[in-house]
Amino acid sequence: MTAPPRAPETVRADVVVVGAGTAGTQAALQLARTGRSVVLVDRRPAGQGGARWCNGVVAWQFARAGLAPPQRPELRADGGPVHLLSPSRAHRVRIDDSPIAEADMRLLGQRLWSDAEAAGVDLRWGVRGIRVHVEWGRPRAITGSVDGEEVRFEAALFVDASGRTGVLRDAVPALAAWCPPAQPADLCSAQHLILEVDDADGARRFLKEVEAEPGEAVDHLGLAGGYSVAVIRVEESLEEVSVLVGTLAEGGHGSGPDLMRRIRHEHPWMGRSVFGGGALIPLRRTYDRLAVPGLALVGDAGAQVMAVHGSGIGFGLIAGKVLAEATAGHVDPGSPEAMWAYQARYLREFGPILGAYDAFRRMSVALGSDGVERLFASGVFGPSLIEPGLHQRLGSPPAHELAGHARALLADRALAAVVVPALVRAGASQLLYRAYPTRPSERALRTWSRLAGVVLGA
Ligand SMILES: Cc1cc2nc3c(=O)[nH]c(=O)nc-3n(C[C@H](O)[C@H](O)[C@H](O)COP(=O)(O)OP(=O)(O)OC[C@H]3O[C@@H](n4cnc5c(N)ncnc54)[C@H](O)[C@@H]3O)c2cc1C
Repeated sequence: MTAPPRAPETVRADVVVVGAGTAGTQAALQLARTGRSVVLVDRRPAGQGGARWCNGVVAWQFARAGLAPPQRPELRADGGPVHLLSPSRAHRVRIDDSPIAEADMRLLGQRLWSDAEAAGVDLRWGVRGIRVHVEWGRPRAITGSVDGEEVRFEAALFVDASGRTGVLRDAVPALAAWCPPAQPADLCSAQHLILEVDDADGARRFLKEVEAEPGEAVDHLGLAGGYSVAVIRVEESLEEVSVLVGTLAEGGHGSGPDLMRRIRHEHPWMGRSVFGGGALIPLRRTYDRLAVPGLALVGDAGAQVMAVHGSGIGFGLIAGKVLAEATAGHVDPGSPEAMWAYQARYLREFGPILGAYDAFRRMSVALGSDGVERLFASGVFGPSLIEPGLHQRLGSPPAHELAGHARALLADRALAAVVVPALVRAGASQLLYRAYPTRPSERALRTWSRLAGVVLGA
């Protein structure tokens, strides 16, 4: 006789978060701090969740997320000058005081996991093959297996923080209908490596050529299509160099790893890899709908990425804080009202930035490398346009620069035909998100979403 199948272990909590990257761990931590019982699951082995490379982050986003900013050794580099080079390197812009700190994501992850566990989060690694059980349109449970044993997780609220693949998002029809997965044209193939410097004199020669000092970031834009970058920062010790590359995933210019090979070939002074990694980043305006009853999206799962440079850490961290704020005080954290409060707060506060910088992302794609070169040459792409982007905030050039920009664009009508609509969309994004419906109304949301599609693009 065969033994009857064992009933799966059942775990009940107020909230179950899927994905222990930065966005999911932060959501779990902040929800636990509001008194919720929280389980956080990830399919990877213990301590391996999320980004495993270094990312550029800005301090205000940590403050808004209720977190201390990175400190050494988590913080590898802190601001300083940054040099932006045109595709041909003929034109350059220097920003004296960049707000971007380079953080080691492996250490930020460790900090968040340990804070989450201290706040009472039940963290479970190695949970594979997740399936979602939906009743009357609302997710009620997920099942997964740990070491071959099935486990069932039940909760009032599920949070999808599984990254761009959105494992829960795509399994819940009410949300999937609003959240089409990003297509290759809307994905950045990126790689970041910390490499040894094999030849310090070679590194010095490179720095001299680009007029930079050790510790300063050199951003070469548009080197593989309009939306592409290679950022090289030789450490002050001249012992290591940080290299970030990114390009559109839809062929044409190769992938992030191809671009990394090209950079390493062009700079033979770069040696073996110390650590790093790569992935695809969703590049699109964040979804118009970030939650349905019982399910909320945070991080890349919700495309909460500043698309113009593929920065998702800060806006993903903030999402967890906003979710905890919006659901606090609701008996059912997954209720229609709590879920609406989350998406309305998030989109009204951060939609304007994410919408505007997606317009600039599409502008850079449309410009191509030639157009990016001409944008540098025109003088329009100067510090007053670049600095708000580095700060991941909105901003506009001061009035005294506007006449010069208008003359430069009039002199290059083809450039103006791409740049002016992007500027108009960026401005319109601010007005548009102020009108995002504050109260649950499918009809109002559909109307708003149609308008957003017309104004900002689908
Ligand atoms: C090379 C590179 C450089 C970047 N540079 C920057 C930068 O400078 N600044 C910046 O802000 N952003 C940057 N980004 C983007 C940033 O890394 C992402 O936006 C961010 O990591 C997204 O965090 P997340 O927690 O939403 O998702 P992820 O980090 O993707 O984490 C998702 C987690 O979910 C788990 N998971 C996935 N599927 C399942 C499943 N089915 N079941 C269980 N668990 C699952 C995964 O194991 C993972 O741990 C960069 C990205 C790349 C690739």
